[in-house]
Amino acid sequence: MTASERPHVLIVGGGFGGLNAARKLRNADVDVTLLSRGTSHVFQPLLYQCATGLLSEGSIASPLRHLLRRQKNAHVALGEATAIDVETRTLTACRSDGSTFDLPFDHLVVAAGMQQAYHGHDEYIDWAPGMKTLDDALTIRRTLITAFEMAESLPTAEERRPWLTFVVAGGGPTGVEIAGQIRELALHALTNEFRSIDPREARVLLLHGGDRVLPSFGEKLSRNAQRTLDKVGVETHLGVHVTDVGPDHVETTTKAEPKTTTRYGAHTIVWTCGVEAVPFAKELAAALGASQDRSGRIAVEPDLTVPGHPNIWVIGDMMARDNLPGVAEVAMQGGWYVGKLIAAEVESDGNATRAPFKYRDLGSAAYVARGHALIQAGPLHLSGRLGWIFWGVIHIAFLAGGRNRVGTVLNWAATLFLGSRRERAITFGDSRIARNTYFTNARKNAS
Ligand SMILES: Cc1cc2nc3c(=O)[nH]c(=O)nc-3n(C[C@H](O)[C@H](O)[C@H](O)COP(=O)(O)OP(=O)(O)OC[C@H]3O[C@@H](n4cnc5c(N)ncnc54)[C@H](O)[C@@H]3O)c2cc1C
Repeated sequence: MTASERPHVLIVGGGFGGLNAARKLRNADVDVTLLSRGTSHVFQPLLYQCATGLLSEGSIASPLRHLLRRQKNAHVALGEATAIDVETRTLTACRSDGSTFDLPFDHLVVAAGMQQAYHGHDEYIDWAPGMKTLDDALTIRRTLITAFEMAESLPTAEERRPWLTFVVAGGGPTGVEIAGQIRELALHALTNEFRSIDPREARVLLLHGGDRVLPSFGEKLSRNAQRTLDKVGVETHLGVHVTDVGPDHVETTTKAEPKTTTRYGAHTIVWTCGVEAVPFAKELAAALGASQDRSGRIAVEPDLTVPGHPNIWVIGDMMARDNLPGVAEVAMQGGWYVGKLIAAEVESDGNATRAPFKYRDLGSAAYVARGHALIQAGPLHLSGRLGWIFWGVIHIAFLAGGRNRVGTVLNWAATLFLGSRRERAITFGDSRIARNTYFTNARKNAS
């Protein structure tokens, strides 16, 4: 027990899993600490719209302190979980200045999510940001906007070409969404704004190892999506692996024999090829003697606890159980389940029975392009306009905060009717870079 003599529930991660676990404990006789690496709950499903200037970072990220302001038993701590001592039930977290602090717990819920995987090629990160965090989205926005500006100022078509070539690696939902959005940015929002270049000439390449995009959707939906991608001008290359990435190029190699290698000149590359557990998962698994799957997810029991540790749960993207997918619904339902379970146990002095976690699959959705999205929910398969309307309703319903919902709907409507995208401000990254001349920055980047 902690100083207040109430059980202390420590939750790691302010994403869909962690936030919903904390909220479910609102009326429980416990003290809740929500430890998160970032100050906000980020709505990852709309990150690509932030990256392409459609939505601001504020409209897809809500401050955790604000979201939990009325929950008197909840306390938010900014820090990164780095180690755990199971004997003393203490978790060590790192502050943003590198110093550390300890957090005791009676119940621990870990919902720290996943990060982009580069499959042994971490050097690609410098040139090909992923699409998992706000920083990723803002970095991509910066490189996209800069690419059009660079092209506008260059005298020859040959020099402009690599700046107007945008490469997206990975043909899953995230890759398809960002590829479609880059073409839409070029086709609608930027058309009348440049004088030397025609943004509509922007080439968007979607590179995918499989034989069809969106493999998690049925074949018919996937074919529909491909037709729409073709129509908006995304160039899809299937059956290829990315085998090299650099500051001005991407290289692919065909999976089929004879292996053919192609090099594309491009300065803007987005990486969406898979995910792996965040570094804390390894620490946690080692300390708890837990097993991890190939992506580092931690295997859990039917009640989502780590085997041998009835007071430690892993939920959301970071848990491995019954091949459940890494989607928001799994994390949210896991959060509700664990919150409810802990509340019941505290109320019954540990005598509550633990029914196993049952996931209710509500389906999946993917945006392809304006007027076209896919919905797959059991026998219900929608695409085109109807899918698009459903997609919009679902995303607004799950976005945190009333203001964000209203703002997002207004922004979507403005973009639909006026074609413009106003959230295109970019920054230099930090004030030292902003104070340097372009020349100094370029030299630093090259070294
Ligand atoms: C671009 C994109 C599009 C997506 N689209 C969809 C979609 O359309 N539909 C859908 O259902 N799902 C979608 N998903 C998946 C969905 O967003 C995830 O399944 C969901 O976010 C998982 O929730 P989580 O709580 O497990 O992890 P996350 O939401 O990733 O949250 C993890 C939290 O843990 C924090 N954290 C990480 N490490 C530490 C640490 N060591 N200490 C403290 N805090 C830490 C992070 O800062 C974050 O707050 C999408 C994901 C992405 C990236």
